[in-house]
Amino acid sequence: MLPDNNNNFEKIRSAISYLIGGSLITCIGGVIIGFWEPLLSFYMTLFGVLCLLAVIFIIVFFLHCPYCGKRIFRKVLVITHCPHCGRNLSTGEIRKKGKKNKKNR
Ligand SMILES: [Zn+2]
Repeated sequence: MLPDNNNNFEKIRSAISYLIGGSLITCIGGVIIGFWEPLLSFYMTLFGVLCLLAVIFIIVFFLHCPYCGKRIFRKVLVITHCPHCGRNLSTGEIRKKGKKNKKNR
């Protein structure tokens, strides 16, 4: 029986994409609003930076492969298979290596 962990990876990854999106919006919005409301701009930019820090924190401490437990840093948002053990991060299927093994029926 597979642990419930494998869905966690998808949850964490979607949380990261929301945080990145939120920080981009607040940073860009903060710069634009800064023309009229410098203080609000400061808080928005601060919020954006905090979101980015949270993303880094989550990646470093929580985002790891549910199967081999190693951390995943690169291509976090697009990766489908663990670069260490080769398992699919949402289904747990092991990636078949080598094109020679194709079944010809
Ligand atoms: Zn792995």
